Amino acid sequence: MRFTGRAEGDMGHAGAYVTDVAPDVEARRRAVKDAPWTWLRQVHGDTVVTVAAPGEGAGARADASVTDRPGCVLAVLTADCAPVALVSREGVVGAVHAGWRGLTAGVIERAVDSARALGATELRAVLGPCIRPECYEFGEADLETVAARLGEGVRGMTSDGSPALDVPAAVGAALERADVTELDDLGVCTACSDQYFSWRARAEPARQTMVVWRD
Ligand SMILES: [Zn+2]
Repeated sequence: MRFTGRAEGDMGHAGAYVTDVAPDVEARRRAVKDAPWTWLRQVHGDTVVTVAAPGEGAGARADASVTDRPGCVLAVLTADCAPVALVSREGVVGAVHAGWRGLTAGVIERAVDSARALGATELRAVLGPCIRPECYEFGEADLETVAARLGEGVRGMTSDGSPALDVPAAVGAALERADVTELDDLGVCTACSDQYFSWRARAEPARQTMVVWRD
């Protein structure tokens, strides 16, 4: 798997919202992983695409994808939302775009279900760069919605003491609901680090990507 940041450039703002992927975006994607990408039109829902051939499902309205086939490159685009990779000993892999709406909708649990349907037994998860509670002030009503599903552990605090959503804690709680206990958190905050694009901190429309594949 690979996570990009500012250095690799915008991986998808145009591609996420228009019919075709702009040539410059396509070129940047090929520089990261030179194979057809299954990228998604992310809608903060719980739809998971099961990919059986390279590039299959590209542009689908979904927030996660899984595959058990070599050569299938699964991609999600993020700014502050969480990119979550799923990996299993059996060679089943998955890519999940998880913001607070998707987390509340159950996108992580659905993706784990889909990976298990392909034969994954023990799954391991990797959490890439995302916004962290110190930078993610969050309204009480929405916080209540997330906590109702994923528990009180999702409540965090910003660096200046305001209520915050703890996205990494919410990802961990969703994985636990799906019986995935091994989570490798890269520990990077997109808002604090100038190495990554952040909508929340800098109103940047560009997106970084996580690509996941099995060889
Ligand atoms: Zn931060």
